[in-house]
Amino acid sequence: MIRPDLLLHPTPKGLYCPPGDFYIDPVRGAVDRAIVTHGHADHARSGHGAVLATPDTIGIMAARYGEEFTASRQPLEFGEKHAVDINGVKVWFAPAGHILGSAQVVVEWKGLRIVNTGDYKRRPDPTCKGFEVVNGAHVFISEATFGLPVFKHPDDRGEIAKLLESVRLFPAKTHLVGVYSLGKAQRVIALLREAGYRDTLYIHGALKKLCEHYESVGVKLGPLEPATLEKGQRGQSEQFRGKIILGPPSAFRDKWGQRFPDPVLAFASGWMSVRQRAKQGGVELPLILSDHADWDELTMTIQEVDPEELWITYGREDALVRWAELEGRKAKPLRLVGYEDEGD
Ligand SMILES: [Zn+2]
Repeated sequence: MIRPDLLLHPTPKGLYCPPGDFYIDPVRGAVDRAIVTHGHADHARSGHGAVLATPDTIGIMAARYGEEFTASRQPLEFGEKHAVDINGVKVWFAPAGHILGSAQVVVEWKGLRIVNTGDYKRRPDPTCKGFEVVNGAHVFISEATFGLPVFKHPDDRGEIAKLLESVRLFPAKTHLVGVYSLGKAQRVIALLREAGYRDTLYIHGALKKLCEHYESVGVKLGPLEPATLEKGQRGQSEQFRGKIILGPPSAFRDKWGQRFPDPVLAFASGWMSVRQRAKQGGVELPLILSDHADWDELTMTIQEVDPEELWITYGREDALVRWAELEGRKAKPLRLVGYEDEGD
């Protein structure tokens, strides 16, 4: 068997495949050929010569960066049967369950199979396809954003129930929910709908384009209205009492959020399990909702995939490497730099 790092290895620009001459999620500068796992800004950048990604990721990149985000867009559906050949390297996608369109990249060459998860989670998400285990991986590259045993994400329905309970208890207050604009926003909306919330949800302008994109590909979000307040119209903010407003966390930290009557500040993020983070951000209602695997999901996934070798990246690499070694697995950290997920 050839050495796996001949097929993929870290470079300052991201993971590079020499025989295929492509990068996976290149982080620095434009490259001739990029394979993009998903649309979050640290993984998907504009300006590359060619982008191979799922149709949904291509759509998201076009919605965020404009139609000219690459010279050549190459949409590829999930599944080995849709595999493409890039300079003799076989490449195909499997669902990663992180956000709409998110993919694991499977790279095969001379009998060697490497599976790169990108970002992933294992619990069901009404806005995207669930993670699928790819068998027969020689090398499994796993993310580790929440790669510490203390991270155990609670049931997302329980977190949504906390928000709805607060809305019920405080009908005169406005609930402001901080959500990242891609992925988290649409998941929170879809979870609210699943929990039976049918009222109009109000969204900050930064969420509009992506919510429309999700709707256009069949993800149902229910009635959404812009959360706009015209300047100078006194009393207009009264209409938002008892309502839920979603927006990027930064918007609620500035003056925009303070114009709403009796605001209750919530924030939906995996980091809300760290009490200090919630406190520092002035978050009164932390909602622990993550689009990444927690510790149990990470270790379960590694056991299910059962690769010959494990490479850990994007986050807390060391604890997971140590865990794997104690399990008798060959493991190493990749130390890729430049990835700070915008959708935790
Ligand atoms: Zn991501």
